[in-house]
Amino acid sequence: MADAALTVIGGGVVGLAIAAELSRRHAPLFLLERNAQCGQETSSRNSEVIHAGIYYSNGSLKARLCVEGNRLLYDLCSGAGIPHRRITKIITATRPGEEGELHRLYALGTGNGVRLRMMTAAEVHGIEPQIVTAGGIFSPDTGIISAHGLMEYFDRAAREQGAVIQTRCAVVALERRPGDYLITVNEGGVISTITSERVINAAGLESDTIASLAGVDAEKAGYRLHYSKGCYFALPPSLSGCVSRLVYPVPTNETLGVHAVVDLGGRLRFGPDIEYQKGRVQDYRVDEKKRSAFGASVRRILPHIRDEDLTPDMSGIRPKTQAPGDPAQDFAIRHEVERGLPGLVNLIGMESPALTASPAIARFVARLMTR
Ligand SMILES: Cc1cc2nc3c(=O)[nH]c(=O)nc-3n(C[C@H](O)[C@H](O)[C@H](O)COP(=O)(O)OP(=O)(O)OC[C@H]3O[C@@H](n4cnc5c(N)ncnc54)[C@H](O)[C@@H]3O)c2cc1C
Repeated sequence: MADAALTVIGGGVVGLAIAAELSRRHAPLFLLERNAQCGQETSSRNSEVIHAGIYYSNGSLKARLCVEGNRLLYDLCSGAGIPHRRITKIITATRPGEEGELHRLYALGTGNGVRLRMMTAAEVHGIEPQIVTAGGIFSPDTGIISAHGLMEYFDRAAREQGAVIQTRCAVVALERRPGDYLITVNEGGVISTITSERVINAAGLESDTIASLAGVDAEKAGYRLHYSKGCYFALPPSLSGCVSRLVYPVPTNETLGVHAVVDLGGRLRFGPDIEYQKGRVQDYRVDEKKRSAFGASVRRILPHIRDEDLTPDMSGIRPKTQAPGDPAQDFAIRHEVERGLPGLVNLIGMESPALTASPAIARFVARLMTR
């Protein structure tokens, strides 16, 4: 008999949500996390926005799981007291010709089942008097959440249902054997093995590496990750009141654009920008030299903000399967039966909106597991 019925690799919001969902059905369940604590990578380095599901292709996993996750998150937050706020959002057209793009986004979003309202420039100025606008889209179901609060909730729920969450435990090898998987782990230099009937790869920025360890050709499968860094700059508290909700520009092919992010403490940040990394280093420093580029992006929305008002803040790294210049890619969430790896589910390219979608992703994986 294997040591575990199911092992989740990676303790970010996705792995924790899966552990909370599946520990009810699969015991014993192990979650293995390489860092000293769960949630120290991408899951704590993001905008903490509960997305509504506007931007993603109709029928895509990103669209379906974001819309379902949005609903599940608000229910979960209200029921479990997780800090959050339905703060709402505006996408504003700031340049000539962007009104057409607003109509395309409106059709895309409503096609995904998202509640949206087109607004004239006067209507936008009625609720956000300081922003540049030639008209906008209002999203009543966009909100903000404490990512840590959410992860603590999933962590507690999983443990209460018997899950064993092991930190400082890096998976270094993964081998399919008849009837189970042999997982080799490194715990502070000590190497040992665990056997598990099923394995879920939720290793974020290393999920392509874990898939390769299991024998998947990451290049051929389209799993190779490109690290794409996003930095934020913050405004001082004296200027934080210049917007009262999230304000986004019209997006580009690769990002939603530098937007105004209000956090639960009322602090106002702008970001994230986008910069593909040359290697696979997790370098979270925010380069001061970006200040003037940020200033220019911010003034697209708020013309009175000066470069010197902006202070370097934090950054995060998107695990993208989309190479620079390529079209946007969907989440890859696959039970690898066809590759001769029954019981292995890979989650690759779990960039935004995976925080929002996390409870829906967990349900989706539970359904894949029944195959
Ligand atoms: C700048 C930025 C802004 C974003 N804004 C939003 C937003 O507003 N709303 C939203 O919905 N989404 C947002 N996202 C996306 C969201 O943050 C991520 O999609 C989500 O956090 C991914 O969670 P995860 O659990 O897959 O990955 P992670 O949080 O990276 O977790 C993976 C875990 O696996 C562990 N791991 C890796 N390798 C191993 C190994 N070999 N052995 C053991 N453990 C291992 C890592 O240590 C890590 O803890 C944003 C992302 C970025 C970068």
